[in-house]
Amino acid sequence: RSPMPSVISTDVLIVGAGVAGLWLNARLRRQGFSTVVVERESLGGGQSVKSQGIIHGGAKYALHGALTGASEAIADMPRRWREALAGDGELDLRGVRLLSEAHYLWSPGTLAGNLTSFFASKAVRGRVDQVKGDQLPPALQDPRFKGKVYRLAELVVDVPSLIERLADLAGDGLLAGQVIEPLFENDELIGLRVDGLDIHAQRIVFSAGSGNADLLARVGISVPAQQLRPLHMVLVKGPTLKPLYAHCLGGGPKPRITVTTHPAANGEWVWYLGGDIAEADGVAREPAEQIAVAKKELGNLLPWVDLNQAQWATLRVNRAEPAQSGLVRPDNAFLADQGRLLVGWPTKLALAPDFSDRVLQALEQDGIKPGNAPALPPLPRPPLGKTAWEQLLP
Ligand code: FAD
Repeated sequence: RSPMPSVISTDVLIVGAGVAGLWLNARLRRQGFSTVVVERESLGGGQSVKSQGIIHGGAKYALHGALTGASEAIADMPRRWREALAGDGELDLRGVRLLSEAHYLWSPGTLAGNLTSFFASKAVRGRVDQVKGDQLPPALQDPRFKGKVYRLAELVVDVPSLIERLADLAGDGLLAGQVIEPLFENDELIGLRVDGLDIHAQRIVFSAGSGNADLLARVGISVPAQQLRPLHMVLVKGPTLKPLYAHCLGGGPKPRITVTTHPAANGEWVWYLGGDIAEADGVAREPAEQIAVAKKELGNLLPWVDLNQAQWATLRVNRAEPAQSGLVRPDNAFLADQGRLLVGWPTKLALAPDFSDRVLQALEQDGIKPGNAPALPPLPRPPLGKTAWEQLLP
């Protein structure tokens, strides 16, 4: 092996190997760009493998009333993911595990009346179908179940297997690196020094999730500003759990609980609970209180599920996004352009394709084409990120 050189060059240098950086990286490589992705911890181990894996198509936002323009922008994401998962889309994601072909809207009993006009509205027609009997999600198939369930044209992916596939598509371009310093030439950012290795690039992309703010500070830039929105998620694991992928509605604009179901190593299922229960009030609760609230909710909603042997845990995690004024919810991928530096957040796992579109557009606008970067030396590779249940409910 030849010794590590002290300078390398690449077309696009990406910092942060969550879904945004890895998806972008795979698309760039497919188009012939040379790339390096720097990750300081683990692949997908930030927000991505802690997410619920729902590929939203915007139906949830329709609950606010009319579909907004923003929810139309997200409407195409399920199709793009489906094509990629089938191997004939923008990436070849065959082999990634699909957890559910659909996500469901679940209206427990009493609420159904309020929703009739919503489901009859033009915005929703064709996007959702009511399901009954053996079409219901397995966890809701019980004689005691009352209420209504609608199937959304959204899917749920197993994020660890997604990250693993995207890491394969990254080839030799993944670099485990901790200390990042900017490299300037005539006041222009020309690359980054990563643990002493100088990497020159035509373009540099920060897709480091909540790490973007610190990276921007390091290169001496203060915009775009970042906001963090905390969540306090609940995990339940047990031998009696059956699959459920649903927003349980509570009458407000946000689902009362959003349940997704994930495979644990011992063949059991883990229910991962987000939605309103994990927002502000949930964030303010101590873990034991949060678990008590979740137990009570599940006891009311699913009294036929025996949770006596279940193990419980909670996870605090922040969503990182561009700062928004007021209550505007970021519903699109966001990208800002500063000379050779591009920085952004997908704002949703589902919007990773939209994030890479925006970067590709920026490259095209600036006339950036694949160069003739020499082959990379062997680089130290970051490990795969661990899920919350692997860490908390082993
Ligand atoms: P991350 O996955 O956070 O990746 C950023 C990476 O950058 C990390 O690996 C980090 O270690 C690395 N990094 C940071 N700083 C540095 C540095 N200085 N140098 C090198 N590397 C660095 N979205 C959906 O569409 N559907 C869902 O169901 C869903 N559920 C969610 C549930 C929860 C609990 C949370 C928190 C989010 C959820 N989201 C969901 C949102 C989604 O997870 C995020 O929008 C998405 O994963 C962000 O991807 P990312 O690549 O930008 O960030």
